[in-house]
Amino acid sequence: MAENKKRTLSIELGYLEECAAWKLESRFFPSKVGGKPAWLDLCHLPNSILCGTEHEDKESEERRDVLVPQFEIVIEAEDCLQEEEVSNDLKTEEEKLKAFEKMVQEGKAGTLQGDTSFDELQKTTSPEDRQFSKFNSRIRRNPDQVLRYDRGGTPLWISSDHTPNEDDIPCCEYCGQHRRFEFQILPQLLNYLGLDSTEKSVDWGTLAIYTCSQSCNEGPAYKREFLWKQDIV
Ligand SMILES: [Zn+2]
Repeated sequence: MAENKKRTLSIELGYLEECAAWKLESRFFPSKVGGKPAWLDLCHLPNSILCGTEHEDKESEERRDVLVPQFEIVIEAEDCLQEEEVSNDLKTEEEKLKAFEKMVQEGKAGTLQGDTSFDELQKTTSPEDRQFSKFNSRIRRNPDQVLRYDRGGTPLWISSDHTPNEDDIPCCEYCGQHRRFEFQILPQLLNYLGLDSTEKSVDWGTLAIYTCSQSCNEGPAYKREFLWKQDIV
């Protein structure tokens, strides 16, 4: 019974590593970010790339991509995080919060000054703050991660605000089946790409990508998927 509870969560993390440019060319089927696109199917390149409400041709997209540095994406499993461990963490947080709320009601919270754990709780009493705190404590385990792969799982939201309902995720436009969460991009990527200053106009809290639950082969070789952008509030 205990063994079932200890199912290891299958979340994989993506990290960026410096890599010789030639290793990131299409012929090596690289996992990469930045630089020019390394198209894996050179015979069926998309004719146009949709960006917001404007269409951009591939050439202009490539020109723009050259402006950010490129890295190889290396994947590693999140270190042996188990369901039991996660629920214990959450339980401890809940217990601490309940104890804190009780003391606030009894007017005793002031006596806790100097206790770091309760000081932190004082700052995290709103649902938004608590979600942000949960996000941070999970990321702190592996601070250099830029991607989290958890196909069919749940995104690690940075805020409890602006999370999608089931109806907000459109079905696959090629086969009509549901899309499901596949991976998310973390804000740490902005630092690697040199896009962390406000003037650059690119910013996100987290980007969650939803793909066809059937991984269908309908439609073109390069398919449009669905992205949910959550900002830092
Ligand atoms: Zn599909």
